[in-house]
Amino acid sequence: MSSITLPRTGQQMPLVGMGTWKIPNSECADVVYNAIKSGYRLFDGAADYGNEKEVGEGVRRALSEGLVKREELFITSKLWNTFHAKEHVKAQATMQLDLWGLDYFDLFLVHFPIALKYVDPAERYPPGWFGADGKTVHLQETSLQETWTAMEELVDAGLAKNIGISNCQGSLLCDMLRFARIKPQVLQIERHPYLTQEALIAFAKEVGIAVTGYSSFGPQGYIEISMDRGAQSLLSHDLVSTVASRYKKSPAQVLLRWSTQQGIAVVPKVTYEDKWVENLDSLSFDLSAADIKALSDLNCNLRMNDPADIDVRMSIFA
Ligand code: NAD
Repeated sequence: MSSITLPRTGQQMPLVGMGTWKIPNSECADVVYNAIKSGYRLFDGAADYGNEKEVGEGVRRALSEGLVKREELFITSKLWNTFHAKEHVKAQATMQLDLWGLDYFDLFLVHFPIALKYVDPAERYPPGWFGADGKTVHLQETSLQETWTAMEELVDAGLAKNIGISNCQGSLLCDMLRFARIKPQVLQIERHPYLTQEALIAFAKEVGIAVTGYSSFGPQGYIEISMDRGAQSLLSHDLVSTVASRYKKSPAQVLLRWSTQQGIAVVPKVTYEDKWVENLDSLSFDLSAADIKALSDLNCNLRMNDPADIDVRMSIFA
């Protein structure tokens, strides 16, 4: 199995894709173009990453040279928190499609179920978490139901083939399933052996929502932004290294396979060609059930990406 079939559209979502968060703008186009040459078909972007134009350039170069057809690619992007109001969702998705130079997204996700005060993209883009003072988070009174209804209209308009949500728990999914005309097709969550999220994943699968795990290497993706919380690296963890040497694979491949073998897609980000080939090749072996369990037993509910930790004054509904 190298992909997950999304139930509503029957579309295949590759199990291994490439994340684009923190790829420097100057490198995006070449990384993405060459990654497509190496066999990547899924790219995971977002307004918040501030590099959709350059990532899109790489995609468009590959398309124009006939390396792939558009329908062979699976392009994911995300709606940022400041665009949750119904009057902003379509305008924002259209603007992001223009940046990519594409007609539709294969998957468009609500990045966080947290509505923030609107920021005009002409003033500041990407807007990020904070208001103009650079330190205050301004929440906005927009319900997720309002946002989701506008997301459904993107599907109606052909701007997104599938829609989903990121960074939420099962209780919110339960509510969404009550009001959704189009069910969320994908849930994207932080997932690595320090944060296994088993109950949430079991629930999502039960109700027919595919899961993508991000930050598969745990603290690794957060070192470059000094948010790794001093946690021990998973890539050099004794258990991961021992398992890796037993299969003659790299620790990264073991961490990716730990997820994909459980039917969870992964989107590791890396800019070095040898590593991206290695990551794509992580589907080429199987871990034993005992090794999967041993890796899962590292769980300590360590969440790297937690907006509640943002160390700022929150001006609630300001
Ligand atoms: P990651 O877990 O993919 O780790 C990235 C780090 O690991 C980089 O430093 C990279 O150089 C290194 N790395 C990658 N492959 C390697 C290999 N084979 N060997 C050794 N080192 C390797 O971290 P991430 O960037 O946090 O997450 C991946 C993607 O997930 C992002 O780019 C983004 O697309 C997505 N994401 C989504 C959210 C969300 O809120 N939905 C949040 C974070 C990330």
